[in-house]
Amino acid sequence: MPRVGVLALQGDVREHVAVLRGLGADVVEVRRAEQLDDLDGLVMPGGESTTIAYLLTTSGVRPVLERRLAEGLHVFGTCAGLILLSREILDGRSDQWSYGVLDVSVRRNGYGRQIASFESPVTVVGVGEVPGVFIRAPKIETWSDDVEVLATLDHGDGEHPVLVRQANVWGCSFHPELTADTRVHELFTNSL
Ligand code: GLN
Repeated sequence: MPRVGVLALQGDVREHVAVLRGLGADVVEVRRAEQLDDLDGLVMPGGESTTIAYLLTTSGVRPVLERRLAEGLHVFGTCAGLILLSREILDGRSDQWSYGVLDVSVRRNGYGRQIASFESPVTVVGVGEVPGVFIRAPKIETWSDDVEVLATLDHGDGEHPVLVRQANVWGCSFHPELTADTRVHELFTNSL
């Protein structure tokens, strides 16, 4: 049974916890740096990336997570979590930082603002079609050859990756925790 943390500073923590418990994972809600010890993987949820970034700093989790990521901790960032892992943030707040461990540039609210939130089926490599819930979703605009694209979506301006993986780091523009389909989480937990 993998031991999976869910970064629980802000955002849709409860939904991720429920999905992961349903899959049989031993789930830890991570609010303090020492809770990053002995994890097989970590989920960074959606929410508000600037708020989560602020709380990562004030909680003291930021530098410890940075070290754990460099050591190869498996991490899955969804929506705001994806933003926090990316090498470059477009339309970010001027002082917005990120861990830079996923070689993509993401545009905050790249699919439009809250009112432009939408659902669309997404075809995931090796899985099939899953429901995609996009809420003020970040758009992956550029990515390097080191990034494996597991799903793309054309929302009117060409195909953009919406689920990617680079070694131990996974990122997703949509919210797999908000539907009953657990296969995207399973893809991650099966890799642990
Ligand atoms: N647009 C949000 C941000 O920048 C992310 C949206 C989400 O996680 N649903 O943090």
